[in-house]
Amino acid sequence: MPPHPHQAYDAIVIGGGPAGSTAATVLAQRGRRVLLLEKEKFPRYHIGESLMPHCYFPLQRIGMLDWMKASHFPRKYSVQFVGRSGKVSQPFYFFEHWDHEAACTWQVRRSEFDQALLENARRHGVAVKEETLVTGFRTANGVVVGVQARERKGLAHDFHAPVTIDASGRDAFAIARAGWRQRDPELNKIAIWTYYQDALRDPGLDEGATTVAYLPQKGWFWYIPLPDALVSVGIVAEKEYLYRDARDPAAIFHREVRKNPWIEQHLAPGRQVGRFWVTGEYSYRSRYCAADGLVLTGDAFAFLDPVFSSGVFLALRGGELAADAVDRALAAGDAAACRFAGYGRELRQGMEAMRKLVYAFYDEQFHFRRLIDRFPHLRGDLTECLIGNLFRDFGALFAGVSEFARLPEPLPYGTPLIGAAEPCPASTS
Ligand SMILES: Cc1cc2nc3c(=O)[nH]c(=O)nc-3n(C[C@H](O)[C@H](O)[C@H](O)COP(=O)(O)OP(=O)(O)OC[C@H]3O[C@@H](n4cnc5c(N)ncnc54)[C@H](O)[C@@H]3O)c2cc1C
Repeated sequence: MPPHPHQAYDAIVIGGGPAGSTAATVLAQRGRRVLLLEKEKFPRYHIGESLMPHCYFPLQRIGMLDWMKASHFPRKYSVQFVGRSGKVSQPFYFFEHWDHEAACTWQVRRSEFDQALLENARRHGVAVKEETLVTGFRTANGVVVGVQARERKGLAHDFHAPVTIDASGRDAFAIARAGWRQRDPELNKIAIWTYYQDALRDPGLDEGATTVAYLPQKGWFWYIPLPDALVSVGIVAEKEYLYRDARDPAAIFHREVRKNPWIEQHLAPGRQVGRFWVTGEYSYRSRYCAADGLVLTGDAFAFLDPVFSSGVFLALRGGELAADAVDRALAAGDAAACRFAGYGRELRQGMEAMRKLVYAFYDEQFHFRRLIDRFPHLRGDLTECLIGNLFRDFGALFAGVSEFARLPEPLPYGTPLIGAAEPCPASTS
């Protein structure tokens, strides 16, 4: 069926996850006409359940705080680390460092959280079309001027707008079309996860804590309490380590559970429910953050190992930053790639701070305790990084961390594609 031409919008957003819903809502708050296209019918399943305290601020900006406060999501006051012997560290309570209500964050069931964000975008006036898959970019002289999309029923559409925001998550629509995926050289982990009903929860304030429990060779478990007595539990480790003597994810999972007494004891009274999930393609960044008429955000721009639960925060904050940059571009009547240089710079700065901490985590020589014993004055900076206050100077912190761990150079990717250095994804549509 030939595509139907459509009314023009100010901006089109691909994907209704945290990044897309936030970007769309912020633009609508500025009075922009926004179309959001989401391939699924919500609620839909998604991984990424543990929030960081600084999620509070983008959620506040888009008017989601009251909903979050009224939700049944477990309150997360802390993160705790469990050694291979099963010994638990002193929990790292965010409120000990930060006297702000944001110091208590949430463990979310993503199907509900993402649906609430999408409904909130609708309430702000965003035109949301679910079950609508974006299949291509529309271009004029190499500039993205809209998208082609197909409804589940098969009807094809053309939508036009001066700017398109790609927030398609790990499907990474633009990256995949243009071959822009750059893998992080050393963060090649995979994850296997599932859910347990009625597994143990720690008492009191620690009931909603995220637990990171170590495995050999710097692998680790996450243990995230969710609503309705459900726990999300998963392993992140090198592929060679996990698949060394088995292929079946369930067999691998149960083998590793026996390696950490804390995990084994906490899961013992519970019942495993649903399937085992596996994902690879771990950490990557797009070669470019923008092209003429196109901006990438959330996982569609970059994905970082989830050990510090930074993904949803970077999606919310990235969506907000992208929307601000798009709003300025619309006001100027110019959505050329160079307009998004500041956006890319700021986002990369925050990501690089988190990335350095992730590298340190995987370094055999690094331990938080040793860092703080030697440099007690860095405790504040370390906490700022862990709670998501990423967009600041961490020079002193990483000078200290580098005494214990080899830190990476910043990735040389993620600036806008300026001056047609190579074909933009537009020209492949
Ligand atoms: C194993 C694992 C554990 C994680 N744990 C955590 C955690 O504890 N805490 C945390 O903060 N983060 C975690 N993350 C990261 C987190 O899941 C992501 O960073 C976050 O979901 C990114 O949000 P997003 O909006 O960019 O993308 P998504 O949430 O993936 O949303 C993208 C949306 O785009 C839609 N879409 C895709 N392609 C198209 C298309 N062509 N047309 C229309 N729609 C499309 C998809 O259906 C989807 O709804 C984890 C990730 C993994 C892999």
